[in-house]
Amino acid sequence: MTTDTIADNLGVPVPDLWKGAHRDDRTRPRSRQRLLGPSSIGLCRRRAAYEVHGTWPTDLADNMHAAILGTWLHEGILRVLREQYGAHTELELTDGVILGHADAYWAPGTPHPRATDAQAADMGVVEDVKTKSTRALDVVVRQGPSQAEWFQVHLYAHLLRTGGLKDHPQLPTGEPLPVDVVRLRYVGREYGQVVVHQRAYDEDVTQQALAWAEDVLASPEPEAMPRDLDGPGLSIICDNCPFKTACWNLDQLADDGRAPQTILAENTESITEALRAYADAAEVESAAKKRKAKARKMLDAADAGTYGAFRLSWSGGNPRPPEPDPEAMIRIIEGLGVGIPMRSGGRSSRTIGVSRVPEAG
Ligand code: SF4
Repeated sequence: MTTDTIADNLGVPVPDLWKGAHRDDRTRPRSRQRLLGPSSIGLCRRRAAYEVHGTWPTDLADNMHAAILGTWLHEGILRVLREQYGAHTELELTDGVILGHADAYWAPGTPHPRATDAQAADMGVVEDVKTKSTRALDVVVRQGPSQAEWFQVHLYAHLLRTGGLKDHPQLPTGEPLPVDVVRLRYVGREYGQVVVHQRAYDEDVTQQALAWAEDVLASPEPEAMPRDLDGPGLSIICDNCPFKTACWNLDQLADDGRAPQTILAENTESITEALRAYADAAEVESAAKKRKAKARKMLDAADAGTYGAFRLSWSGGNPRPPEPDPEAMIRIIEGLGVGIPMRSGGRSSRTIGVSRVPEAG
């Protein structure tokens, strides 16, 4: 069945874009990478270990439209950086253990009419381009790049600086190439907003990333590595992880709506630990809710605007259209002497109660 919506009934066959795009995406070489990729370093040690140990990725979702759109955008963006700004793009880098592709590199003194000040100042720059949803981009604006993203671009810089460039038509291979600045460029997939973060290359960050990678590379099996993220339903990275079935035993999960995370609480010790986390978090949440409620009341009459480091805006507050009144409907039906139609009420949701046991003595 086609995955595209076709708005006429001429009966002329239409090539199915997404089916073809998924087939195309599955043929990309990165799917079964055995060497560790810089983009996996700093994210989740177990996921990186699955890659290193060559585990078959069983959860390649068939609806990765956003990821595929990101790949297409990525290709266009790199072409612009290459043709308009003289970047060397998609450089294959490896030290025999880590294998990755740096998006863009400018060698010092890049001879290009639109070379930027950094290149004119004889600086080597390596850049990674990331396409993001508006929501994910908002997180970058508020919180800055993640540690894993800084790890990734520092590792590209490290591989360039240590002669890790593989065959290249213009740049020398097997020789150290200078990198002074690492850059992350985020591009919004919906509206094309661009956010750039760049900093001087920092050897300490590279060493942290390499230590993280060594930990994974030394693992005897993926299961020896911790799950660094919270699992399906709680982490979007887990939701899209190609190894989530293996990681969370999803194929053995009883079909009773139980959460995958139940496998983390299989003995008294782990259940006690989860209860402690729940009780601690509930206390923090309760205190935070009270502070938030008071602050909200205080702001009730404040005008929208910027106050110090904060921006206040208001939305909503408009009259709603009338909606059906179930109580009045019941009264009318009862007044007509007709039985009220009923349907199964299902089950009430289970409510957890957690309290601390008073200490003895
Ligand atoms: S499902 Fe989540 S925790 Fe498991 S390997 Fe993937 S990213 Fe890590």
